[in-house]
Amino acid sequence: MHDDARFDTRAIHAGQEFDPTTGAVIPPVYLTSTYVQDGIGGLRGGYEYSRGGNPTRTALETQLAALEGGIRGLSFASGLAAEDALLRTALRPGDHVVIGNDVYGGTHRLIRRIFGDWGVTHSTVDTSDLDAVRGAVELGTTKVLWVETPSNPLMKISDVAALAELGQEAGLLTVVDNTFASPALQQPISLGADVVVHSTTKYLGGHSDLIGGALVFAAGQEELAEQVGFTQFAAGAVSSPFDAFLTSRAIKTLSVRMQRHSENALAIAERLAAHPGVARVFYPGLASHPGHELAARQMSGFGGMLSIELAGGGEAAHRFAESTELFQLAESLGGVESLVNHPWSMTHASVRGTDAEVPESIVRLSVGIEDVDDLLADIDAALARL
Ligand code: PLP
Repeated sequence: MHDDARFDTRAIHAGQEFDPTTGAVIPPVYLTSTYVQDGIGGLRGGYEYSRGGNPTRTALETQLAALEGGIRGLSFASGLAAEDALLRTALRPGDHVVIGNDVYGGTHRLIRRIFGDWGVTHSTVDTSDLDAVRGAVELGTTKVLWVETPSNPLMKISDVAALAELGQEAGLLTVVDNTFASPALQQPISLGADVVVHSTTKYLGGHSDLIGGALVFAAGQEELAEQVGFTQFAAGAVSSPFDAFLTSRAIKTLSVRMQRHSENALAIAERLAAHPGVARVFYPGLASHPGHELAARQMSGFGGMLSIELAGGGEAAHRFAESTELFQLAESLGGVESLVNHPWSMTHASVRGTDAEVPESIVRLSVGIEDVDDLLADIDAALARL
């Protein structure tokens, strides 16, 4: 692969060289915990024990770094394990984090409850409001600005370039959770972010058959990458070789999946927006979305996630979420199959009663890549039951 290979070529070839022994086009899955040494310390390729390194994980980490335009990728057992390793390495008691007010509930819970107990404080703000972020930063104490864009579940769009500039001026680390967009649609490092986080469980894994997470570091963050690499090794939340293989395999079709997710989601968003039972549709692909122009600038597609606010409130939201058939009621997102979720009672139950609470009237849809007419028929049937 040439150094200047484009995204779709990198997705298929980065880290995925054929096996030199047999010529197998797909590199083998190294289901091994340990490696024979040629005399004490005589390692072949640097591999000693699979918590420290495994060729299948290395292949995925190379692929992830190539997709996000970073200098190093690290693959973890889950998205939260990746977040934990990063924060544990970057923060010390007394430090402060500024975090979006519409992020994945588990991220907020991690910072509030786990890091809170270790003396790390946080402020929850709307990261799509630059002045609010500026006002929340405590110079010298704020060490991390945590941005999720599009956000979960209200699909707020935050200006990554402006936030990264603000972060640089304040001497803090700007971290972008790129799970919703995936690198096929948005590359935060090219906009100035220092670290990109993924729940690879979602679009990168793409088939709802694994749990995984990743970090990718921007140029200039070599030292931090090294330190987090040590945390990964020493604390041990690595991805298994088989999960790493499944993720690498899925990444090869990421672009085509994201294109279809985006097309289907736009059609569903438009249908929902036309129904009187739906008070609001949160989808950045709609011209009515407050972040539409910014999203069109910093993303190359609007993705497969959208949320709606039901005019009938919480009761209608419960009914809608339990009425669809093709859209299966389940947590998670980003798979080829469509899912429906009631954040207030499911994915975001842990932030109820906090400043990141999601209204009960919201329903979130992860629009899959099934035939769009079948998806629309399912939505129509659920709307008819409102
Ligand atoms: N970030 C986002 C945006 C998510 O939606 C999730 C999970 O839903 C996570 C992080 C956490 O990832 P995981 O569930 O793989 O630990």
